[in-house]
Amino acid sequence: MIDLINFNQIDVDAEEKTAWVGAGATLGELYYKVAEESNNLLAFPAGVCPTVGVGGHLSGGGFGYLMRKYDLAADQVIDAHLMDVNGRILDRKSMGKDLFWAIRGGGVASFGILVAWKVNLVDVPPTVTVFTVVRTLEQNATQIHHKWQQIAYKLPEELVISAGLKSVEGKRTMVAIFSAEYLGGVDRLLPLMQERFPELGVRKEDCQEMSWVESTVYHRAFNAKENLNLE
Ligand SMILES: Cc1cc2nc3c(=O)[nH]c(=O)nc-3n(C[C@H](O)[C@H](O)[C@H](O)COP(=O)(O)OP(=O)(O)OC[C@H]3O[C@@H](n4cnc5c(N)ncnc54)[C@H](O)[C@@H]3O)c2cc1C
Repeated sequence: MIDLINFNQIDVDAEEKTAWVGAGATLGELYYKVAEESNNLLAFPAGVCPTVGVGGHLSGGGFGYLMRKYDLAADQVIDAHLMDVNGRILDRKSMGKDLFWAIRGGGVASFGILVAWKVNLVDVPPTVTVFTVVRTLEQNATQIHHKWQQIAYKLPEELVISAGLKSVEGKRTMVAIFSAEYLGGVDRLLPLMQERFPELGVRKEDCQEMSWVESTVYHRAFNAKENLNLE
């Protein structure tokens, strides 16, 4: 067992749009630092849970709300420091292209100890819009979910709508939960939703504008139980 908690240094180069991030850092620490150093104009596309560590996450893929525009976290890795079985620290050049390929999706634990990643950062607008809406079976959850399957992957890449099905405690029913992030303001999102997915019935009051880094907290903190309003 190797504790990497102190290898948590994050160095952001906002001009070059890159960062070195130590294997002991969490996604949340990386998101915060990137936003802070870039005045909310850069982001890193990775998973929804801020407490996940970058060591395992980036080596296995890493998907989240920026994935349609900017792919997986592993796709944005441009260099790495990896300690091999002989204690040598390798970088992208010295590890060779096969190993560098393998640690970006194949799980780094099979190959050595990842010390740090160098990653590309991506542009985000100062304002993003998020919403979470819940539909019961009586509100056509089944039909809406069916439509979502047909259109979600064809929407503009600035918009990610995720859908989940959830049982309702103590009741023999379930609901569909749709959570979304749009890289832009609500004034552009609403006409888009009206045109491409009117069945979901998203209203202005369902939407919240915020910075991208705030959205990373929003997605994690949304409490389905409190917000289901099913009493
Ligand atoms: C609450 C939660 C939410 C999640 N949300 C998402 C999501 O939105 N999107 C997504 O894509 N995934 C998500 N995941 C999955 C997550 O990406 C994986 O569990 C990932 O492997 C976590 O990496 P870790 O370093 O935190 O975990 P660990 O359990 O510490 O590590 C996972 C594996 O990687 C190895 N490893 C970790 N660090 C290193 C290192 N420095 N060197 C060598 N090997 C290492 C470990 O030995 C282990 O085999 C989520 C997981 C949880 C628990």
